[in-house]
Amino acid sequence: MPEGHSVHRITRQFRRNLVGHRVTVSSPQGRFVTGAAQLSGHTVTDARAVGKQMFLEFDHGLWLRVHLGLYGAWDFSGGIQMDATMASANGRMGQTNQHGTDLPAGAPTFDEAGENSILSIGAPRRTRVRMSEQEKEIDLAETFPPEPIGQVRVRLLSDTVCADLRGPTACEVLDAAQVDAVIARLGPDPELDNTPEAEERFVSVVRKKPTPIGRLLMDQSVVSGIGNVYRAELLFRAGLNPHAPGKSLGDETVRALWQDWARLLHVGIATGQMMTMDKLEGAGYRRAMKNRADRHWVYKREGLPCRVCGTHIVLEEMAARKLYWCPRCQA
Ligand SMILES: [Zn+2]
Repeated sequence: MPEGHSVHRITRQFRRNLVGHRVTVSSPQGRFVTGAAQLSGHTVTDARAVGKQMFLEFDHGLWLRVHLGLYGAWDFSGGIQMDATMASANGRMGQTNQHGTDLPAGAPTFDEAGENSILSIGAPRRTRVRMSEQEKEIDLAETFPPEPIGQVRVRLLSDTVCADLRGPTACEVLDAAQVDAVIARLGPDPELDNTPEAEERFVSVVRKKPTPIGRLLMDQSVVSGIGNVYRAELLFRAGLNPHAPGKSLGDETVRALWQDWARLLHVGIATGQMMTMDKLEGAGYRRAMKNRADRHWVYKREGLPCRVCGTHIVLEEMAARKLYWCPRCQA
């Protein structure tokens, strides 16, 4: 499932390419005909990500809410304003990233935050990009707009850009009050709001709960956007036992978790990779950008020696998801 950084990146693509544009909305597959008719002919005025959900606002006050779930994906085609990392990447990105980003030889190295301002400036390119838990450029369609292929739930079409949504878990039209109600049920998202109030909300909820921290981090009502990869890596970075009850943790520990999530999420959005190791430079950084095996402390490293202490990384099920951790560093 896409973790928060993917949804923020998709939202950024919408901001660059469709916000401010009038769109024709349709449902080639037929399952969203009524919703499409409510939105068609209107201008997209805002795109917002909260955790794993995206909200698109239209000029008549209605919103489109999308949760990609396990199988959802957006395909963009046409004259697309490319994102920095996507302009340099021919890779796939995301939670189940197998291929990583192969930086071209001689490509400028990304700066500390993973940004590369030179590549982010450029004229729109004619291309197709798929964004889901993975991202990849796919073959250029011959015609614009392309024939809808497969089960396209929603198509948003401007004069120059086409966005097709397939396989979402949720896709519905809401009014502003309904959007507020959905967002109110979600835990804070540090990319959206990293104020002391947002941090406090996270800290106070975690420190009241008897629930293991490994479950709390995955609970979208406690904090938004964390999935399996970030959970495992955040806990390792903090040296925390995943089974420790939230209420057993100190105030500073929980605050540090929030700040670390804010930092990792920001890097993930900037680079398109769930880069969870710090201080990598040069060849090490390129290797980590390319291969998942080189950018995580514990995720998918079961049975391998811990990078810090050499103890074998353990794999167990928690909340029906695989959890990776080091029994010594996270004792
Ligand atoms: Zn260890």
